[in-house]
Amino acid sequence: MHDGLTEGFDFQTLKTNGIKVNYLYVCERKLWLFDRGIQMESSSDKVLIGKLLGEFSYPREVAKEMLIDNLINIDIVGSDEIREVKHSNRLAHADRIQLLYYLYYLKQLGIEKRGVINYPKMRKRQEVILTSDAEKEVEFALVRVQEILSTDKPPQLQRKPYCAKCAYYEFCFG
Ligand code: SF4
Repeated sequence: MHDGLTEGFDFQTLKTNGIKVNYLYVCERKLWLFDRGIQMESSSDKVLIGKLLGEFSYPREVAKEMLIDNLINIDIVGSDEIREVKHSNRLAHADRIQLLYYLYYLKQLGIEKRGVINYPKMRKRQEVILTSDAEKEVEFALVRVQEILSTDKPPQLQRKPYCAKCAYYEFCFG
């Protein structure tokens, strides 16, 4: 079935968790470890984001969380935009692909919106638009996620600037 812009792409087979698409851009090894159920991530991120969300004022009518197919969990769904709230833009490239994926996913359901990433701590906002190039990027990302997760061993260790802050640091370097 040709479901996307990329030849042979089948969204129904390749759709996955938003967090996995995010991790693809953070670290392929982290993605693999997370997928195998090696979950060392503390809940502190979620707690922090929840706290920030509470402190950050949105118009009441748009403040709505949406979970779709148990795969994507959008922080805020408004009439023409969806928003994600992140506590830092340290991994902005990963935040961007995750939100593009959400926009792509919604488009498959016949819903077209634009995306906004809020970094309330830094008083920044980043607009994210699903262009046709961005759609292809999402499709390549989903194909790549599947490639990585179909291997028996985790991708080779490659130190990154943010390893020290990663929940898998002890696993990788301990
Ligand atoms: S510690 Fe570094 S190499 Fe290991 S999973 Fe985390 S980001 Fe990847």
